[in-house]
Amino acid sequence: MLDQLKCLIEYQKIEDKKNRLVRSSEETPRRVAELEKEFELFEGEYLSKKEEHDVAKKAHKALEQEMEDLRGRLARQKTRQGEVKTNKEYQAVQKEMDDTKKEISKTEDSALELMESIEALGRELEGLEKEVAGKKAALDADKAVLEQENSGLKSRLERLETIRQRVRERVTPELLKKTDFLLQKQAGIAVSAVENGVCQICHMNIPPQKFIELQKDEEIMQCPHCHRFLYWPGHEGYCVLSEDLDSI
Ligand SMILES: [Zn+2]
Repeated sequence: MLDQLKCLIEYQKIEDKKNRLVRSSEETPRRVAELEKEFELFEGEYLSKKEEHDVAKKAHKALEQEMEDLRGRLARQKTRQGEVKTNKEYQAVQKEMDDTKKEISKTEDSALELMESIEALGRELEGLEKEVAGKKAALDADKAVLEQENSGLKSRLERLETIRQRVRERVTPELLKKTDFLLQKQAGIAVSAVENGVCQICHMNIPPQKFIELQKDEEIMQCPHCHRFLYWPGHEGYCVLSEDLDSI
């Protein structure tokens, strides 16, 4: 078994695990943002209903003021009616008073109608308020779980990084340089198994003579197509890791 090749295989497994953990940790902010957006959407509905409620209450107050003004007008008209001299003038003021009364009654109807919708909105808001509070509590709890998961991921990544550095130190600088180059150029995969003469990453056939050489396990070889380092899993030593990655 070639010790350097074994290190490379191990290094690849560490890279795979690292990439998986990094991807998971990158998911967290996205999921948090999703949950927050969902909550804001619901809260937005509640806030616009609340705004509607406030506007209606203001309108009702304006109507009440209007009624007060009209009643004042009616009182003044009544006083004036007591002071008129002729029957004609009396009739004219009476007409004005009838108009004012009609206006008062119309305004009262509108105020009553508005009050009914204010009360209905108020009841609806009460329910929504409870729902918003419930959803906010759920959001905070979900966020706490996600953040805890994420800090777990971070510490796993730190532990993995220690192992990664340790394995890097065991690889010769020349091989390490080639490996880093392959990792960068070949989608994060620098090492591939060969099974039945086929590179398991690029799925191309290795020439039979090369496959025989690979099985002899005498030198580190690269795939003639994708240039990744090759190993044959038939050598069981290559399938056993010296570092314990499962515990991370
Ligand atoms: Zn290949």
